[in-house]
Amino acid sequence: MKLFDSHAHLDFPQFDADREAVIERARAAGVVGVLNVGTDLVSSRRAVALAAQRHMVYAAVGVHPHDAKKLDGATLAELRNLAQEPKVVAVGEIGLDFYRDLSPRDQQRRAFQAQLAWAARLSKPVIIHDREAHEEVLGILTDWGQDLKRSPLGGRLGVLHTFSGDLAMAERVVDLGFYIGISGPATYQNARHLPEVVRALPLDRLLVETDCPYLAPHPHRGRRNEPAYVGLVAERIAACKGLPVGEVAEATTANAQRLFGLTVVD
Ligand SMILES: [Zn+2]
Repeated sequence: MKLFDSHAHLDFPQFDADREAVIERARAAGVVGVLNVGTDLVSSRRAVALAAQRHMVYAAVGVHPHDAKKLDGATLAELRNLAQEPKVVAVGEIGLDFYRDLSPRDQQRRAFQAQLAWAARLSKPVIIHDREAHEEVLGILTDWGQDLKRSPLGGRLGVLHTFSGDLAMAERVVDLGFYIGISGPATYQNARHLPEVVRALPLDRLLVETDCPYLAPHPHRGRRNEPAYVGLVAERIAACKGLPVGEVAEATTANAQRLFGLTVVD
C-alpha cells in the first residue's frame, strides 16, 4: 500500500525526541510521501530543511491564520525566497480561524489575501485552514479561483485541509478546482458531515492527511498523531465508500501527486 500524508507538522517540537523513528515508522506503514506544512516563517524554514534531508518529505511555506499578525513585508519576502526551493510544492497553511481568533480577524483576512495573491503569481496550489469561517473562506476562494480558471493552476487550486464544512460547501469548492483533505476526525464517533461528504465526493478529489501531531485517528485519539497512522484515515474512507483500502490509498496518492505536481520516489 502506498499512502501520501498530505498535511503533517513533523518540524514541531513534539517530534524533537524521535523524528527519525517517526519517519521510519511511516515508511514501514507504507507512507511514500509526507507534505510538511509551515505555519509561520520559522516552521516554514524548518519544513524546507526537512524536505532537503529526507526524500519522502515535501514542504509548504506560509503563515497560519493564528500567526497572521506576524506577517509583514519582510516575512513575505523571505517566504518568497523559501518558495524557490525545489521541494516546496504549495503555499500554506493559510486561511481563517474564527474559532480561536488568535490574530485579529482583519489581520487574518489581509494575510490570507496577500498569500493567495502570492500563490497565484508563483502558480503553486494553496493549503487552506478554515475553522468556523466557512462562509467567508468560500467567498474569498470563489473570487480567487474564478480568476485562475484558465491559469496553470486551473483544476488544481489547492486543498481544504481537515475539511469541516458540509456537503454543499465541499461540492462548491470541488467545482472551483479544490481537493478535500480528510483526517482523523472522520474516524471519530461524533463526525458530523464527514461520512456524507466522503461518500458523495468522487475519490479523485480526496486527499488523506494526519495534521500530526494533532487529531490522531481512532483508536489513538487524544495522543500524539504521526504519519504512520494515515492508513487509518484511508480505511475509514474505504469503509464509507465500500471500496478496498488499497484502491483508496492508490487514488489519494495519485491525487496528491497531481495536485502538488510531484512524483513520489519509492
Ligand atoms: Zn496543520
